[in-house]
Amino acid sequence: MTEIIVRKIPLPPHVRAFTMPDPQGDYNIYINCALSAEQQLSSYLHELKHIRRDDFYKRGKTAKEIEDEM
Ligand SMILES: [Zn+2]
Repeated sequence: MTEIIVRKIPLPPHVRAFTMPDPQGDYNIYINCALSAEQQLSSYLHELKHIRRDDFYKRGKTAKEIEDEM
């Protein structure tokens, strides 16, 4: 079963959040702990949308193209 692990960590100011799939098929979401609670929630929902859309397995698309579709 796919698991989603969420961690709040210090990240550079321009990085709100990112997601890393791991080899077991689980997902690790990292959220910038310096964001406000509201920004953390919207970043979390944004990352969940990437997972639902299977964006991590779209070969041949740039990160920008994927973000533009969001
Ligand atoms: Zn995104």
